[in-house]
Amino acid sequence: MIDRNALPDPLAGLPFDDDKLHEECGVFGVFGHQDAAALTALGLHALQHRGQEAAGIVSFDGVQFHTERHVGLVGDSFTARPVIDRLAGTRALGHTRYATHGGSLERNIQPFFAEFSGGGFAVAHNGNLTNALSLRDRLQRHGSIFQSTSDTEVILHLVATSRRERLVEKVIDALRELEGAWSLVCLSGKKMIGCRDPLGVRPLILGDLDGAPILTSESCALDIIGARFVRDIEPGEMVVVTETGIESLRPFPPAKPRFCIFEYVYFSRPDSTVEGRGVYEVRKKIGAELAAESPAAADLVVPVPDSGTPAAIGFAEAAAIPFELGIIRNHYVGRTFIEPSDAIRHMGVRLKHNANRDVLAGKRVVLVDDSIVRGTTSLKIVQMVRDAGAREVHMRIASPPTTDSCFYGVDTPEKSKLIAARMSVAEMAAYIKVDSLAFLSMDGLYRALGKARRDAAQPQFCDACFSGDYPTRLTDMERRDNVRQLSLLAEAG
Ligand code: SF4
Repeated sequence: MIDRNALPDPLAGLPFDDDKLHEECGVFGVFGHQDAAALTALGLHALQHRGQEAAGIVSFDGVQFHTERHVGLVGDSFTARPVIDRLAGTRALGHTRYATHGGSLERNIQPFFAEFSGGGFAVAHNGNLTNALSLRDRLQRHGSIFQSTSDTEVILHLVATSRRERLVEKVIDALRELEGAWSLVCLSGKKMIGCRDPLGVRPLILGDLDGAPILTSESCALDIIGARFVRDIEPGEMVVVTETGIESLRPFPPAKPRFCIFEYVYFSRPDSTVEGRGVYEVRKKIGAELAAESPAAADLVVPVPDSGTPAAIGFAEAAAIPFELGIIRNHYVGRTFIEPSDAIRHMGVRLKHNANRDVLAGKRVVLVDDSIVRGTTSLKIVQMVRDAGAREVHMRIASPPTTDSCFYGVDTPEKSKLIAARMSVAEMAAYIKVDSLAFLSMDGLYRALGKARRDAAQPQFCDACFSGDYPTRLTDMERRDNVRQLSLLAEAG
């Protein structure tokens, strides 16, 4: 049993809302529409949940490229008419980011753009390369000078230094060197190129608006502009959009897809359709599986909003327990509070969530959340629900315990900071002070996705943050570990 009094303040040193995995990035490109920049700004606005730190748009007017890159929300910078007017042209490429790699420097804002000998070239990347440092070292030894600390700039340099003749061949040449997760959209003077890594870890879809092809991360970015969903870009597929049409290429050896399972649990918007599955329906099925696996005798099912809501609905329906909004989320917590002062931080989650006393008082409550990362928010929320008069609190988590870090474009704390990597379920229950705690099993998660179970020999998804089973090499990590071991040996010698 954990002695809670012996533990340090779980919120010490953390921003108040730092107990969620942060989404990676969203991309949006449109080719051949008179409102290209405005459509891209709207598309990025719909993808805002994938990254709230900065956004950028590059456009091409037939003669030259135009670039706008700004820190902050899409709506902070890209609603002003002069900004959109400066992004002239019928082709545009946009990106919204959370700093998964390279820190939060302004020069890391995407899309990246460079003038090559063959003309301008822009790239927007969703994902993370696991061999970026190794590639960067090699490129720097051969004279490349980097402007940013982002892994995406490596791709730009690889394309620029390829000895192939044609642009598409250069891009293929560059992409064959990459390890990790990459859903990319590139824009040149004549082409828009979209590509997914061979495992298809991150999403990328093709849409259409009035005959103008669109490449973007999620279908909600098509809905906002009234565009039509055409299809998913397949894992390992490259599509080349030109004025004469769309060509599909398969430049990589085939591989068994490993789409990110966490897109269904948390990252994607519930109104998106991802890889043929409606995210909202999957989350409700997750809740139903959770209710079947780990029932609780309770009066109410209450979601931790917003991410826990669809799973809580599914749980409540399956368990025949009333669903109630026992916690209300304040949607207007702006950027002011993202890095708050200590005084504000110690107000804890109350800035964002408040317990609904009239609903909770005297009740036995099942609280449903999507995941537990550090445990800090769960601890505060459980206390808040108890302070509001709940008689019992039974926590149910709509995913397996998060035991490992993500290296594919999601900002996860290092493993030692993940509560599930340090404690058993019973210890976590004691730590967050609940009457009972249960996580969805891995097979339960796979069942919610329509699979009989997880195929341990060849898992159908990437689930590494729950299993530690990474689907690619982690070259930069291996190199870091080797350096660490060599220095330990040197110290011992
Ligand atoms: Fe998704 Fe987790 Fe795999 Fe990262 S490690 S890609 S979050 S399933």
